[in-house]
Amino acid sequence: MAGKVWFVGAGPGDPDLITVKGRDLITRADAILYAGSLVSKAATRWAPAGCEVLDSKGMALEEIVTWLIENANSHKTVIRLQTGDPGLYGALIEMVQPLDANHIEVGVVPGVPSAMASAATALESLTLPEITQTVILTRVEGRTPMPPGESLAELAQHHTTLCLFLSITLLQKVESELLAAGWQEDSPIVVVHKASWPDEEKVVRGTLADIRDKCRLEKINSQAMIIVSPTLGARHWPTLKKSKLYDASFSHRFRRGVTLEPTS
Ligand code: SAH
Repeated sequence: MAGKVWFVGAGPGDPDLITVKGRDLITRADAILYAGSLVSKAATRWAPAGCEVLDSKGMALEEIVTWLIENANSHKTVIRLQTGDPGLYGALIEMVQPLDANHIEVGVVPGVPSAMASAATALESLTLPEITQTVILTRVEGRTPMPPGESLAELAQHHTTLCLFLSITLLQKVESELLAAGWQEDSPIVVVHKASWPDEEKVVRGTLADIRDKCRLEKINSQAMIIVSPTLGARHWPTLKKSKLYDASFSHRFRRGVTLEPTS
């Protein structure tokens, strides 16, 4: 009987950020194919003796799929360990379709996306009451073309929080598209390199005008999240609009609000 292939999100780098479910699967895995150096530590730390652990670096998608199918035919628990969450820029569906075609059972365990880890590292909130209530996870166009209507210049017109994956080598393009969308030269930007990696993470704060130079000085040209948001730096703002969630007059499922005005 064929085994099951699990796509497990390893989280953004710190092996402690894998979910308990993901770690438990690793501890009883028969074979693990992990995606490069970003997730190797989680794989090697928790895998049992005798488990085949292989880096997929250098393997084409077809080879990865073949490996998963072959291992699922001879083992019970096969893991494809991916950085962050498998559903974000992870070629998940390209791998699942051939497994479906081979009638192999598939499961996904979510992981902490690097956008969330980056916000945590920089101590930023991606949403703030009456500032922005929306987060767009996107990238700028590189070799993968953007679908119509999804250029950064178009998405940025909403002036919401933008988390840009896979774009650190394209900062000049980020800058010009944001300016085209009406952001100012002094709009704040934070770049987080290797978020959550113990002793390796770096936070670079700047503006649209100077972030490229600052990243160049810090030699950041890979594994970095770019966050552009009207919420950046709010930790140091003197006044904030308070969230309704903790407002004494606001009722929700778990708490009845105090009525401040007499009702008829
Ligand atoms: N599935 C992953 C994203 C993979 S795409 C996730 O959920 O996060 C790879 C991109 O993710 C990188 O180009 C970078 O923009 C971002 N990234 C991955 N790990 C990161 C980390 N530890 N710190 C900052 N950015 C990271």
